[in-house]
Amino acid sequence: MSYPTLLSPIRIGAHTLRNRVVMGSMHTRLEYAPDAQRREIAFYAERARGGVAMIVSAGHSPNDEGPMEAGSHALATRAAALAHRPLTDAVHAHGAKMLLQILHAGAYAKHDRAVSPSGVRSPINPRTPRALAAADIERTLDDFVRCATLAREGGYDGVEVMGSEGYLITEFTSPRTNRRDDEWGGSLENRCRFAVEIVRRVRAALGPDFLIAYRMSAVDLVEDGLTGAEIDHLACAIEAAGADMLNTGIGWHEARIPTIAYHVPRGGFRYAIARLKRAVNIPVAASNRINTPELAEEILAAGEADLVSMARPMLADPHFVNKARDGRADEINTCIACNQACLDNIFSERAATCLVNPKAARETEFDDTPPTTKKRVAVIGAGPAGLACAITAAARGHAVELFESDSALGGQLELARRIPGKYEFAELLRYFRRQVERNGITVHLDTRADAQRIAHGGYDRIVVATGIVARTPDIEGIDHPKVVSYADVVMRRAKAGHRVAVIGTGGIGFDVAELLLELDVADLLIDEYEPPTPEEFFDEWGVDPAIATPGGLRAPVLPKSPRSVILMQRAHSRPGARLGTSTGWILREKLKRRHLRTLTGVTYRRIDDAGLHYSVDGEERVLEVDTIVVCAGQESSQGLARELTQAGLAFDVIGGARVASELNAVRAIDEGTRLAYRL
Ligand code: NAP
Ligand code: SF4
Repeated sequence: MSYPTLLSPIRIGAHTLRNRVVMGSMHTRLEYAPDAQRREIAFYAERARGGVAMIVSAGHSPNDEGPMEAGSHALATRAAALAHRPLTDAVHAHGAKMLLQILHAGAYAKHDRAVSPSGVRSPINPRTPRALAAADIERTLDDFVRCATLAREGGYDGVEVMGSEGYLITEFTSPRTNRRDDEWGGSLENRCRFAVEIVRRVRAALGPDFLIAYRMSAVDLVEDGLTGAEIDHLACAIEAAGADMLNTGIGWHEARIPTIAYHVPRGGFRYAIARLKRAVNIPVAASNRINTPELAEEILAAGEADLVSMARPMLADPHFVNKARDGRADEINTCIACNQACLDNIFSERAATCLVNPKAARETEFDDTPPTTKKRVAVIGAGPAGLACAITAAARGHAVELFESDSALGGQLELARRIPGKYEFAELLRYFRRQVERNGITVHLDTRADAQRIAHGGYDRIVVATGIVARTPDIEGIDHPKVVSYADVVMRRAKAGHRVAVIGTGGIGFDVAELLLELDVADLLIDEYEPPTPEEFFDEWGVDPAIATPGGLRAPVLPKSPRSVILMQRAHSRPGARLGTSTGWILREKLKRRHLRTLTGVTYRRIDDAGLHYSVDGEERVLEVDTIVVCAGQESSQGLARELTQAGLAFDVIGGARVASELNAVRAIDEGTRLAYRL
């Protein structure tokens, strides 16, 4: 498929972009790395080389009140501006434009100098911001203009003024956070004044050639947010003030509606962007859950937007655009919207990277010089660790043979993609399969490789990626017919009844609960899960696609539960506490609405025809259930490693076969990829 609209040039203000793909701003935390500048240059230059038309930098505060946290990017001095030159030069050398994003965090700032229009505390920040006095507002406007002026000195083609997602500018526009009664609050016109003045004054100071993008919330998704008509008013005022284009954000960070995770249908917020596009004459960029060139082309061809802004898809595959252009879209490593290595890393104060692409924001750690000796490599196990190792080693020129005891590639990924919220994992499998094929890897399916066979192969390097085996708890009656493994339930080999107990509340226990509570019994026989339609998503989360109400919200439609499910654990800790920060709350909320129950502090007694016997606080009880699903964690599958050791063969072990306790795809793919570079 070709992408005629996506790949066509577009005029934005005084500039021509080579295609319609903008790399959206991302917070990577690379600024905290010891060799921050080298890493940032490598990161952005690689994306420019991969074909995007324009890159928006991470948010830079215009003053010392606006950084997200101490040490976050800021731009307030000439010396700092000149230090950006090597970065902007590197991006320009690959033919892309670059904007500096000016981000004032307002009430979201995680430091003591936080400010906001009226001193209203955000529910996601324990700090109460100081209310800006009128003189502070004038000073802040000057700071925005200074920052934009410095951006030009730093070699940027323009700026993106960050006016979405609940940061300072949004806080001015909304009565939720703006309680002022002076010229900066009250009427809609007054609330929009701060945003309008920023754009107007930047344009006046920097002239017509400087590109000004304004990023605005196409829908707020919070109570007392703007209505559609008010959003239109703001957009028109921003256009009149001199912006060249609008970029879009969806929802405030404090919204209790998922906006970017895999629970959101692809293109789920198109409705809000198409609406915004109709209100203005300047180009509009669509964003949020657009992760394939097909969908991007569809949105543009339908006239719903003029450009697409993709951020995480550029972490996942820096060469997204070139692959689409060269007819290699099936080789794109698609962002699966898991947030596991990007946002969740940021939330735990680590630099972002990507589950599907461990080289993202780690470009300087990988030396792509081809190896001097081409080796024959055997990789045993075609789960995420083995697949990552095999395709990377083969791409580097090694001759790779991949052994898998199952009849298909994928391992745990085959399970993940069958969980309702995780259907995007199918894209990762598609990517791996395509890379296996194009790199000429010899695949042996349905083959349990033993030490003898591997020894006869005469390989230079042996990689054991045999994964995990599910733990079987030592409970009397564990072999009762009511008891099934999670793998059998997920693969639809076992059918669950109407009353289900799940042993274990880890990530897999929650996944199984989602599966059992989302689908009805008949649907459990279906192998492929149909992702929710936007309409189903709007019903579930209470989204008003007409944006007739403040914030574009309405009452959610409570889902029906096809069965009762109870998750059990022996520990007294909060179940699900270790789920990913950016997706765990979504899953917990979904399951709460479906009446999931949890039991902690359990001692398992036995399983028999009556059900699951257990005690809590010394009291003996029985759960009368039809099905008991075991999700009691994993143990490393080390049989082959032991055999190879006995046979005196040297090998490397990666993924779950190495450590089962913190098994996750981020680590597995990272280990596989890094080992391939060391072979
Ligand atoms: P897990 O997170 O280690 O949880 C294992 C559960 O089984 C715990 O609730 C534990 O609770 C229970 N358990 C352990 N030993 C037991 C025993 N002998 N008898 C009875 N219960 C026992 O394992 P998992 O759920 O299999 O997940 C594995 C990994 O996959 C996780 O580390 C995670 O990284 C990843 N994962 C994450 C997600 C996600 O974040 N959404 C989803 C899937 C997988 P008690 O010991 O308190 O009983
Ligand atoms: Fe996308 Fe997941 Fe990678 Fe983040 S970690 S960029 S959400 S695939």
